[in-house]
Amino acid sequence: MSLSLYKKKRSFNETPEPKGKKKSSARSLKFVVQKHDATNLHYDLRLEMEGVLKSWAVPKGPSLNPQDKRLAMMVEDHPFDYRNFEGTIPAGNYGAGTVMVWDEGIYTAMGFEAEPTKKQEKILLEELKKGDVKIVLHGEKLKGAFALVKIKSRGENAWLLIKKEDEAATDKDVTKKDKSVKTKRTLSQIAEDAGGNPREKKSLTKKTPGPVQLLNNRSNKKARVKKKSTT
Ligand code: MN
Repeated sequence: MSLSLYKKKRSFNETPEPKGKKKSSARSLKFVVQKHDATNLHYDLRLEMEGVLKSWAVPKGPSLNPQDKRLAMMVEDHPFDYRNFEGTIPAGNYGAGTVMVWDEGIYTAMGFEAEPTKKQEKILLEELKKGDVKIVLHGEKLKGAFALVKIKSRGENAWLLIKKEDEAATDKDVTKKDKSVKTKRTLSQIAEDAGGNPREKKSLTKKTPGPVQLLNNRSNKKARVKKKSTT
C-alpha cells in the first residue's frame, strides 16, 4: 500500500511526524493506539499490515465492553514508524494537536494464532478487503479479541470496533487510563514538554481580549496603577 496520501496531507518541514519509510517488524505484527487531541479528541487504532499501519480514527475510543460498538473511521495508511510518534503537531498543520502513545503491543489474526506471521498477515489483508477483521490484541491496556466490521450502508470508511466476549472483556471504562504507555505522561504533560498545546496557542494568537478579560488581567491592572502614581 502507498503512503502517498499520508505524505500529501503533511508538510514535513513543519511537523515532527515521521516522513515514513516502508518498514516492518519481522517476527510479529504490531499495533498502536494513539490518543489524539485534535479538533475533536479521538483515538487512532493502527494495525501493522504489509509494512504500513492500517488506521482507524475512533471518536469515543476503544472499549473492553462487548456491548459497545465504537465507530471507527478508516483513514489513510500511516508509516510503520508512526507507532512511536508522541508529541505535538504544530498549529496550522494537518491533525494539529497533541499525540500520545496510549497503548501498544503485538496482535494476531484471531483463530490463526499458530500460523506464521506472514500467513496471518495474508489472512488479515483478505479480512480487511471483506470488511470483517478479527484480531487478538496483546497490549498493556487493550487485551483479547476484537472485531473490526465495515458498515456497508455508511460509505467507504465507516467501521465498527467491537470487543468479543472473553476473559479480557469488562464494563470498566478503559479510557479512564489516560497516561502514555511509553512515557507515563498525560496529554497535557506531553503538550507542556513540547512547549504548550498547539491548539491553544493558535486560538490565543487569534483572540483579541475583550474588556472583561482586560479588567481581570492583574498585570494589566498593576500597569495602570503604576502609570497613575507616576503622573
Ligand atoms: Mn488522529
